[in-house]
Amino acid sequence: MRIIRSIRVLQVWRRKYATQRIGFVPTMGALHEGHLSLIRRARKHCSTVVVSIFVNPLQFSPSEDLSRYPRPVKSDQQLCREAGVDVLFCPSSEEFYPKDFQTTVKVNRLSQSWEGTFRPTHFEGVTTVVTKLLCLVRPNRSYFGQKDYQQLLVIKHMVKDLNIDTKIVRCSTIRESDGLALSSRNRYLSENQRRQAISLSVALRQGVQSIKHGQTNVQMIQNSMQKILEKFSGVRIEYLAVCDANTLSTLPRVKGEVVLVGAIQIGKVRLIDNMLAKGP
Ligand code: AMP
Repeated sequence: MRIIRSIRVLQVWRRKYATQRIGFVPTMGALHEGHLSLIRRARKHCSTVVVSIFVNPLQFSPSEDLSRYPRPVKSDQQLCREAGVDVLFCPSSEEFYPKDFQTTVKVNRLSQSWEGTFRPTHFEGVTTVVTKLLCLVRPNRSYFGQKDYQQLLVIKHMVKDLNIDTKIVRCSTIRESDGLALSSRNRYLSENQRRQAISLSVALRQGVQSIKHGQTNVQMIQNSMQKILEKFSGVRIEYLAVCDANTLSTLPRVKGEVVLVGAIQIGKVRLIDNMLAKGP
């Protein structure tokens, strides 16, 4: 596995690999089975796999956890090596965003709801970093997790709007055996908080079940999910909703493909999750 830290070196490398089918997995590191499932999928379908690890300052607000975000550099490198990654791209913040950097990419409407309400500058940071990475790596396929469902939709839309020539591949959410979606932020949870953390997936699963059993009244589904979450002390709900799986707009009734989305705060830890369901 080749570790590349410089943008120039990556560009030179990319020119040499013009004919390969390149699969790309962008990450912020602190790799877990969720990230590894994306890498394995890329490994299966592409001749060359590029992973980036970059804790992107642009997507954190000043009050968020940028400085304490986990950075286990050596073990991340080892995991990538074991997963058969060809190139690990780890640029420095200074080179990626030089002092005179002044260009951003913004997906307007899709970025505003849900996560956008609670993290107003987040998606602009994500779309800017992903655009830069896609320009550098020029992958045939780019792998993103369903875990960050709104992010996935925003990036899909951006790639379509800007005619970026890469296929966005959606990969299922990997969970712990009790249902908690894997996340680099789970390591912040204390033992007690870890027990509370399953609440979100329990509520979402209950919502999916009720849709399967024929419930179409969105208000009733949301109320029953909220009741479940309220049973867990120490969990603060940021949002919990059933919405259209393509536009993320709210619905009075379940119809076609919907996504159940939620965000909770446990102490200082913020967790998000989602599940898809099909209505009549
Ligand atoms: P991050 O390092 O958190 O920016 O995530 C990098 C990529 O891994 C994103 O496409 C995420 O959606 C994906 N990812 C994170 N957690 C999971 C998970 N539990 N299952 C599947 N994909 C995930």
